[in-house]
Amino acid sequence: MTTGNEGAPGGGVGAAVFLSLPELQPTPVEGCAVCGDLAARRQEARERGDLSAATDANVRLRNHRDHAENRP
Ligand SMILES: [Zn+2]
Repeated sequence: MTTGNEGAPGGGVGAAVFLSLPELQPTPVEGCAVCGDLAARRQEARERGDLSAATDANVRLRNHRDHAENRP
């Protein structure tokens, strides 16, 4: 399990490698508002070059398992 703190606080080393790993690019569940929001945050983070925030969004996406509760 994750602590939710898998960013690279001091970092700069190795962060870019994460972007090439498919398992760290989880696909948002269709119809889940939380997943959709996280996917949007991830995209925005990438566009501004914030790899820490993008990785954080990926961790949250991967750990989100209560999708059903968010469906209308
Ligand atoms: Zn979800």
